[in-house]
Amino acid sequence: MKVFKFGGASVKDAPSIKNVSAILTRFSGQKIIVVVSAMGKTTNKLEEIVAAYLAQDQKTFVGLVDELQAYHLEIAAGLFPDKHFHIFELLDDIFTELRAQIQRKPSDNHAFVYDQIVSLGELLSSRIVNAYLLDQGFNSQWLDARSIIRTDNKYQEGQVDWTKTEALCQHYILPLLETHDILMTQGFIGHTSEGFTTTLGREGSDYSAGILAYCCAAKDVTIWKDVPGMLNADPKYFSDTQLLEHISFKEAIELSYYGASVIHPKTVQPLQQKDIPLYVKSFLDPEASGTKISSSALHDSKIPSFIVKKEQLLLTISSKDFSFIAEKHLSDIFETLAHLQIPINIMQNSALNFSILVDRKKVKMEALNAAFVANYSIRYNEGLELVTIRHYDQHTIDQMTTGKEIILEQRTRNTARFVLRYLE
Ligand code: ASP
Ligand code: MG
Repeated sequence: MKVFKFGGASVKDAPSIKNVSAILTRFSGQKIIVVVSAMGKTTNKLEEIVAAYLAQDQKTFVGLVDELQAYHLEIAAGLFPDKHFHIFELLDDIFTELRAQIQRKPSDNHAFVYDQIVSLGELLSSRIVNAYLLDQGFNSQWLDARSIIRTDNKYQEGQVDWTKTEALCQHYILPLLETHDILMTQGFIGHTSEGFTTTLGREGSDYSAGILAYCCAAKDVTIWKDVPGMLNADPKYFSDTQLLEHISFKEAIELSYYGASVIHPKTVQPLQQKDIPLYVKSFLDPEASGTKISSSALHDSKIPSFIVKKEQLLLTISSKDFSFIAEKHLSDIFETLAHLQIPINIMQNSALNFSILVDRKKVKMEALNAAFVANYSIRYNEGLELVTIRHYDQHTIDQMTTGKEIILEQRTRNTARFVLRYLE
């Protein structure tokens, strides 16, 4: 059995959903678990609805819900000319339930509220796509991922209970695949042991595909995207990108750790554990081979990869009493950063300073200052970029650093990283 994941862009309108169906036709006769994301920008819209609901801004959330419903109805109308088709009733029920929910007073647990509402995007999407597949004659069955993927109670970033999820997969999915070719389910969502909905973190649908593949021991996984596969650089910033045709699990994990955003960072680990190959392919050109990610590291160093993170902030932290930055200070600093939920992109220490590079957008300056003011002084260096080169050589380093000031650099055998500032 295979696992396919279709992201938001691949189901953003009626023609896109027809394309998904055309792709599935190419695999007829095979058993496929299909994981879909919410359509287009639905998740962002649902996040806005949650924010307006929590702020009790009735006018805004009612308007947003109307827009979201109209968007889904338009897609459904493009797929099912018959207005009496049962999907319209199903969509109506989901929106009626949402409207009822946001008329009630919100719970104080905002992350909980978020998950109950934002999860609707994937439910809507999977319902519509499945109805279309059935209409096209596929032997497909809709499956609620909330009866399969079990997480803890950490809302907005549910941690998977692998033992339970594996047991649920074996119990529900395998028998269903004996009588159906396609199981249509949702990415991004799971459930707690009490039966409440959780989400796995933004962009978590890839991860769902990885979880299901692991727990059902799938033959392979394909993530269908609007790019030809994994590229060696982001085409937004580089004009001559190259396709990475075949890389190892380890290389894929490294690339996504450094910030390559083609696949969700947690996706690869479960696949690596069971040696399940992952393909990244274009839904616009399904015949093209795309990228294969597997245990073979044979091709890893053939092509250098470039990862650029913009809008970086360098924080240099020193103790107020000019004491050495030693273990006690470091554990203190790490604890504070973990508490403030600020991920570190790169770090370096000297006798008196500890420097960390972070995404400017993830830092709440006031909270940061308040947390450090008693014992430390902080200096800020803004407007920087972090460049990571995998499988570098002098030529690629020159290419990335010429004309820029190098503020900090670190090299290992395979990876060179530079914190850079553009020269005026
Ligand atoms: N719909 C969710 C999001 O946009 C999950 C996903 O697309 O992977 O974050
Ligand atoms: Mg997405």
